[in-house]
Amino acid sequence: MINNSNKQDKPLVLISRCLGFKPCRYDGSIIEFNQLKELKKSFILKPICPEVAAGLGVPRPPVKLVVLNNRKEVGYLFNNHWQIKPNILRNVIRKYLRDYNNAGGMILKEKSPSCGIKRCKYYKPPGRDFKGRTGGILIEEYNRLNLGWPLIDEISLQSNSSMEKFIADVKKFHNKDR
Ligand code: SF4
Repeated sequence: MINNSNKQDKPLVLISRCLGFKPCRYDGSIIEFNQLKELKKSFILKPICPEVAAGLGVPRPPVKLVVLNNRKEVGYLFNNHWQIKPNILRNVIRKYLRDYNNAGGMILKEKSPSCGIKRCKYYKPPGRDFKGRTGGILIEEYNRLNLGWPLIDEISLQSNSSMEKFIADVKKFHNKDR
């Protein structure tokens, strides 16, 4: 962790690791992410992968976001039955957010039950059809801590104007007294 009295010139930005850093997706794939070179000019990028950090391994069954008694968890279907993994991601995500609390933004893989900002499918076991879309576990913890960092997903970053706005917003946030 770097505290504010030791502020770096470039803002620290957390980024989903499968976006061009490592093949850490459930099927061992990586997402080609051409914007990395441009982003590295403005930010120190810290790749994170909650699912690998939680010990789920690569490859792994594709986890799904589930809502149980108004609480978000992840799980997967095995032989048509839900296997729920309570708190498995929440603890590592809290550690990331604590360890890098000096960050100024996040770039996240949309639709992921772990990293997605708002378009992750969610399920209500025992049903197997998805019920709607919402933010993943990382966003829930980020909101709980009221961090306020600018956020963006990898699809939005393909637009030059959105990229420029995100860079400006993160720099502004980084230069605020916190
Ligand atoms: S979306 Fe997040 S949890 Fe899933 S592979 Fe990418 S970094 Fe890991």
